[in-house]
Amino acid sequence: MRYTHMLLPTTKEVPSDAEITSHRLMLRAGMIRKLAGGIYSWLPLGYRVIKKIEAIIREEMDRAGAQEIFMPAVQPAELWKESGRWEQYGKELLRFRDRHNREYCIGPTHEEVVTDIMRNEIQTYRQLPKNLYQIQTKFRDEVRPRFGVMRSREFSMKDAYSFDADNEGAEKSYAAMFEAYERIFRRCGFTFRAVEADTGSIGGSFSHEFLVNADSGEDAMVYCAACSYAANLEKAEIAEPEEEQRDDDALLPLEEVHTPGVRTIEEVSGFLDVKPRDIVKTLIYSADGKTVAVLVRGDEEINEIKVKNFLGADVLEMAMDDEIRSVTGAPRGFVGPLGIKCPLISDYSLKNMVNFVIGANREDYHAKNCNLGRDFSVDTFADLRIAREGDCCPRCGGDLQFARGIEVGHVFKLGTKYTKAMNATFLDRDGKEKFMVMGCYGIGVSRIAAAAIEQSHDENGIIWSMSLAPFQVIVTPVNMGDKDISEKAEEIYRELESAGLEVLFDDRDERAGVKFKDADLLGIPLRVTVGAKQLAEGRVEVKSRKTGDVAIVALEEAAAFIMKVVEKEMPAAMEPPR
Ligand code: ATP
Ligand code: MG
Repeated sequence: MRYTHMLLPTTKEVPSDAEITSHRLMLRAGMIRKLAGGIYSWLPLGYRVIKKIEAIIREEMDRAGAQEIFMPAVQPAELWKESGRWEQYGKELLRFRDRHNREYCIGPTHEEVVTDIMRNEIQTYRQLPKNLYQIQTKFRDEVRPRFGVMRSREFSMKDAYSFDADNEGAEKSYAAMFEAYERIFRRCGFTFRAVEADTGSIGGSFSHEFLVNADSGEDAMVYCAACSYAANLEKAEIAEPEEEQRDDDALLPLEEVHTPGVRTIEEVSGFLDVKPRDIVKTLIYSADGKTVAVLVRGDEEINEIKVKNFLGADVLEMAMDDEIRSVTGAPRGFVGPLGIKCPLISDYSLKNMVNFVIGANREDYHAKNCNLGRDFSVDTFADLRIAREGDCCPRCGGDLQFARGIEVGHVFKLGTKYTKAMNATFLDRDGKEKFMVMGCYGIGVSRIAAAAIEQSHDENGIIWSMSLAPFQVIVTPVNMGDKDISEKAEEIYRELESAGLEVLFDDRDERAGVKFKDADLLGIPLRVTVGAKQLAEGRVEVKSRKTGDVAIVALEEAAAFIMKVVEKEMPAAMEPPR
């Protein structure tokens, strides 16, 4: 491709609304342009990267036995009403009416459509399992679209859906997708981690997010320094602490103290001159309409997802003021476990606390030197708080560490959630009608392009991996006005192209400095510089964008040399699956 033929508008200016590096670089390198909030066009350079990503995904999905289909972006409301998501999905779902006043949405995901296809086409167990995937434009009316294509409203996703006759089959399908995802992200050149994610009401640990390590990432991942345990922050479990022997002689008498207007942990800590870790927080929730109190140490935070899962509740909300008063007799800020009239559950963090401060269940009063067992008891202890760096690993007791990441993929065992709601059945071996067991598997195609830049760049621009690079080589004649240089450069360009390489020929009549700057910005892995000095010796310079290493190569050997580097840097397209 000739630079002068290409629509490749690079810019020096940093757009002011671009908050993160990948967004800035994608705009500066002329990969994308904004049409409206969270809606982007892909220009030629950017779209070449998208096609690279799609090709890797297709190869690995096909290899794993999935079949490509293509479903409509526009979906009728009826299907979403059947699954119950027309009401649940909220404002992220873009809804509209056609000329006949019928309701539709633009698909943010395709469980309903694919389940509809399968319930119509599958009759018996002999037709299962099946795994169908597509690469398609999704629309989600995100509250805060940001970071360019990283969190946009319109974006490209690969979504796959597996259908099995039973749980065992569904778990196999899940494992096959998990493996395919590992291969895909390895081939993209990512440093990433698969972390356990919350499955909500479906249960089990059959959901993993694939997070690419990046400080700018929106997701927090927690991993064990000693073993392979990794989870996202909302899911991360904490080991139960060992119970310490309590010296009952050290327990001080319970004492009520006047704390007028003192409500928060900080206020209580300051007023009574005690550390937050010596105070117990009592939070009153309404779980599916039933009131429950949850205790946690004052310096820790409740993880509401853990509470919700522990209680098996569909909806968990903070209790209203009158509900709080009716179970504690006190207003918010002064509640505690003493004499409370609702079930009481406690996080493990209370286990070894003695002589702690609680709300006294009386307006403007707290109680000091409270002790478990002596003053009150709880119904159960459980892991209910948000993990912190240095907490104990639930698997091996090692230290939990934190890192930030970008979610590029998500695999989820859905079970029969959709097939039940939409009555997608088949006749099993035993002649009984059963619901198909589903899994769903997403990859953010456009997000991968941004994540790759986020993970690999320097102050001069993008550094593409060979597998995602829009071009593998850029040929840079330092002076197009010099006939010898421009002709030799053109020759090399043609030779590399006919060798099957993807080459950008910078045939612009620009100064060498400008061309070098742009080549660095675009991040093409190899740059062949054709300049007078080397040319006089019959040689060219081959520079690696990643390492900066320069090789001086004889003209006639240049193509073979570059071919070798490209092959070496392409993560083999690769060994067959295990
Ligand atoms: P997030 O937590 O980032 O909103 P999600 O859980 O909503 O993601 P899924 O529904 O699992 O995402 O979608 C599959 C994949 O699609 C995600 O792993 C992510 O890579 C990508 N994706 C989701 N939302 C967006 C978006 N607004 N812009 C770009 N890519 C997205
Ligand atoms: Mg989302």
